[in-house]
Amino acid sequence: MKKEIAANTKEAGAKREYRKCLLEGCNEDVSDRLNKKFCCDGHKNVHNNQIKTRELEEIRKINIALKVNRRILKRLLGDDREVLTTEKKLTGLGFNFDFSTHVIISKRKKHKFIFSYNYGYYNTGYGKYKIVKSFYGDEMPE
Ligand SMILES: [Zn+2]
Repeated sequence: MKKEIAANTKEAGAKREYRKCLLEGCNEDVSDRLNKKFCCDGHKNVHNNQIKTRELEEIRKINIALKVNRRILKRLLGDDREVLTTEKKLTGLGFNFDFSTHVIISKRKKHKFIFSYNYGYYNTGYGKYKIVKSFYGDEMPE
C-alpha cells in the first residue's frame, strides 16, 4: 500500500515539473500553466527591461569603440587626402581593429577599405595602413 502511494506521487511529480519564474532571483513556481514563464506581469516587464538594458549597454560599448576609431583616423589624416601610418601607432592611440561600420573594396586595385563611419583605412602590408576619408562615386581611390 505504502509503495503504491509513493509511485503515484512520483508520477504526479513527473507530469508537473517545477519551473521557476524567468526573472533572475525569483524562485516562484510557474509550473501551474504549460507556457507560463513568469509569476506575474511585473516580473515579465522587469525581465524584458533587463534584456533591453543589456543590449543597449552592448551597443553603447561598440559605438564608443567606433567613435574612438573614427576620431583617431580623423586626427591622423588631418587635412591630407591620404596618410600612411603604422599598426603600432594606431593601437598606441587606442584604435580597435575589431570594430568597423562597413567595408568598401576599391574597383581597380581591390584594396579593402575598412571604415569607422566616414574614415577608413586599408592594410598596405608590413604593418602599415593607409588612412582615407569617405569617398563616393568617382572619388573612389584606385
Ligand atoms: Zn517572478
